[in-house]
Amino acid sequence: METKPALAGLFPGEIAELLKPLQPFRAGQIHQWICKGAVSFADMNNLPAALRDELERRFRLFSGSVSAELEDPDGTVKFRISFEDSVKIESVILASSEGRKTACLSTQAGCPIGCVFCKTGQMGFTRDLSSREIIEELLFLTRRERGISHIVIMGMGEPLLNLKELRRAVAYFTDILKISKRRITLSTSGVTGGIWDFTDNGPDIRLALSLTTGRQELRERLMPVAQSNPLAELKESLMYYQQKRKRRITLEAVLLGGVNTTPADAAALAGFARGLDAVVNLIPWNPVDGLCFEGKPLRSPGAAETAGFASALKEKGLNVTFRYKKGRGVLGACGQLGQQE
Ligand code: SAH
Ligand code: SF4
Repeated sequence: METKPALAGLFPGEIAELLKPLQPFRAGQIHQWICKGAVSFADMNNLPAALRDELERRFRLFSGSVSAELEDPDGTVKFRISFEDSVKIESVILASSEGRKTACLSTQAGCPIGCVFCKTGQMGFTRDLSSREIIEELLFLTRRERGISHIVIMGMGEPLLNLKELRRAVAYFTDILKISKRRITLSTSGVTGGIWDFTDNGPDIRLALSLTTGRQELRERLMPVAQSNPLAELKESLMYYQQKRKRRITLEAVLLGGVNTTPADAAALAGFARGLDAVVNLIPWNPVDGLCFEGKPLRSPGAAETAGFASALKEKGLNVTFRYKKGRGVLGACGQLGQQE
């Protein structure tokens, strides 16, 4: 088994420390190469050949590797990444029609929350990712696609259950890669204690809540996290975030045909949103084979069902946006991430 330490995912100062007594500017050059997408030490052509050889002998560049890249005709690219204990995760590049490129990153291998509509949730939980692994995800994506300007922490896993590692990764994104914190969004299934901690101790980035329903009893059946994190407490934590951070919140709602799209559902969702500065992002369910809710196969809502739900929300004064289907062709859309093997 490979045991050489990896340099990617380390801050420049840490690389300098590891390479002592090498002159610090060399560590800076190596770090720049990593950020520019070098795939091997041999690429680093402003380093003396002897140093490149020595680096090759003593270190690795990355601890993980990309085992597959799958491209959807809509511009979405899904990456399958393997880490050193053979744990596999997925990350995605999303391209908007205006040309904006967004990285969607995972924070855990699998997910312990177990939402009934989500493929990752049905895989179970393997382990947390380390900060360096989360950083490597972005570096791998950057290697393929220049100009990634936005990050959504909406891949596999519940980020607020891995906040310490995430904090360090976000510091790397903002301080080293200079991605604005206003362009980074974390989505949580609603871990109330994590929202308080996140608000008090950072990272100071945008927040999205996967609400999906404003009805507590339905939410408990769809998203087991709701059993110990009731809506009333969740709302309180969001009010605190908003009061302290002064940022608009996104409330995401996966639309499940015949399950959470009635006028009563719209009223409950609007009730939850009351008092928050929020935009509601509707996500028609992306199909995952074999997923059922209480014995019935889940289905995407029809066009009329989606439109009816959206207009009921709008009538109640809510701002509504849609997230459509991107990446479905490579099973890279929301809720479809998980190993195929
Ligand atoms: N675990 C965090 C971060 C993942 S974000 C969270 O749940 O918020 C993934 C988003 O996709 C969440 O809003 C989730 O509710 C949604 N989602 C999960 N499964 C889906 C599916 N099959 N179709 C559409 N959206 C889904
Ligand atoms: Fe986990 Fe989010 Fe999927 Fe729920 S939707 S199982 S919290 S990844």
